[in-house]
Amino acid sequence: MYVPESGTDGWKKKRSETHSSSVPQTPHGSPLPAPPMPSASLRLAVIGAGAAGLAAARELSREGHAPVVFERAAAVGGTWLYTPPATSSDPLGAAATHSSLYASLRTNLPRETMGFLDFPFAAGAAGSEDPRRFPEHEEVLRYLQAFARRFDLLQLVRFETEVVSVRREDGGRWAVTSRKLGDKGTGEEEVYDAVVVCNGHYTVPRIAAIPGVNAWPGKQIHSHNYRVPEPFLDQVVIIIGASASAFDISRDIATTAKEVHIADRSAPADTCEKQPGYSNLWLHSMIDRALEDGSVVFQDGSSIKADVIMHCTGYLYDFPFLGDDSTVTVDDNRVDPLYKHVFPPEVAPQLSFIGLPWKVIPFPLFELQSKWVAGVLAGRTVLPSKDKMMGDVKAFYSKLEARGWPKRYTHNFSNYQFEYDDWLAAQCGHPPVEEWRKQMYAFNAKNKKAHPESYRDKWDDDHLVAEANEYFKKYMEVWTIVLQRLNLVV
Ligand SMILES: Cc1cc2nc3c(=O)[nH]c(=O)nc-3n(C[C@H](O)[C@H](O)[C@H](O)COP(=O)(O)OP(=O)(O)OC[C@H]3O[C@@H](n4cnc5c(N)ncnc54)[C@H](O)[C@@H]3O)c2cc1C
Repeated sequence: MYVPESGTDGWKKKRSETHSSSVPQTPHGSPLPAPPMPSASLRLAVIGAGAAGLAAARELSREGHAPVVFERAAAVGGTWLYTPPATSSDPLGAAATHSSLYASLRTNLPRETMGFLDFPFAAGAAGSEDPRRFPEHEEVLRYLQAFARRFDLLQLVRFETEVVSVRREDGGRWAVTSRKLGDKGTGEEEVYDAVVVCNGHYTVPRIAAIPGVNAWPGKQIHSHNYRVPEPFLDQVVIIIGASASAFDISRDIATTAKEVHIADRSAPADTCEKQPGYSNLWLHSMIDRALEDGSVVFQDGSSIKADVIMHCTGYLYDFPFLGDDSTVTVDDNRVDPLYKHVFPPEVAPQLSFIGLPWKVIPFPLFELQSKWVAGVLAGRTVLPSKDKMMGDVKAFYSKLEARGWPKRYTHNFSNYQFEYDDWLAAQCGHPPVEEWRKQMYAFNAKNKKAHPESYRDKWDDDHLVAEANEYFKKYMEVWTIVLQRLNLVV
């Protein structure tokens, strides 16, 4: 298994070998105006109330802070707040919606793995309505809402309030300007000791470059704006991508479209395969070019007259509110420089990012990152010097390059998420991620690869499900009693 050791400190080292200490020290020898020393009474801004923002708010609150959570939407949940079909004039752009969920979406991870470490996402838990292992998206929203209520997080959130600017002040504090939805003014500026960015990264579409597409007469849409298959009735649709979304959406659209053709850039040039179980679904190599007469040509020279090209080609990291003084830039989807994907060394710990890694189990990772940030801000955990953090980042990049990974895979954790999780856990004095969760993740990956059409309904890791449910019991009993007392269980 490929595990890049992250430079000078190495993710695999134990807490005692790295930088934690019971005696708070200066976080780094910055030549800039000294940032405020971590203390237990910081004024903190969290941007976003999705799963990452909720995790951050809980951990910061547990450290005795009262963070202010800014949320553009009218409710918590972020990605999991489904928004109905977008009537966007820009079907390739992010338009007005944040969430990229389509109506038929069921989770692609088993629910037992998905939940926060001490708040099981178990079938039958308080508020649960869909007991399936891979439930509908509404079930995830219900779970996040229950989490927010259980930990009293709603009172921390300023809803329908967008952060428009985050600017560094003298003394290392941050001026945060926010604006109420519909407010045409310049917004309200407040000063915070630290800012935790949790704005998500599945909203700004990445589009495939297709030679000739500007003269091609069909319609293009990004999966961000896809909701239901009905608008594609009797059409010929080309779907670009090989991700979970491309797979699911191609099957969804095949229920109404005349033909669906998937263009996969990793497929050999001569690929043209009818997909088993479907009369109207094919797999091809990548698109070579699009023509004025409506044809789309694949790499093997074959062509199809198509009505729609759907880009299931992923998303871009975007922090439109950050100025140059954040010291962070985004280049080819590398958010740079970040120590362990969280802290920009120059301004750590007063600026941090929760939730950048992908190909992970997101919620537990958000939780552990949040614990680490909260511990550092409280002065219980100490970061290495600025130079050491920068050295670590550079060494990590060198390892990625040596292994031939492109820049855009900087935050792709497919092979080492658990080493990272366990490193974070060690920083916080938290036990490592449970063994059953790690094994279940691996089982699911294997099952999904072998049975992509049916992995959500057939599996062979019931022994792990039993282990997880046994493990959950201690939490379930406590949370059910607490939620009943709060009158949240019917
Ligand atoms: C199609 C799809 C399927 C997925 N399936 C799964 C799955 O099965 N299992 C799984 O675990 N994960 C899945 N994920 C990953 C999912 O994104 C994460 O689980 C998680 O919800 C991400 O949380 P987040 O808080 O980082 O971001 P988000 O959920 O995107 O939340 C960010 C929040 O920040 C707010 N915000 C952004 N900018 C501002 C601003 N300037 N001011 C104020 N508020 C702002 C947004 O309104 C939003 O509420 C899926 C993602 C997608 C897109």
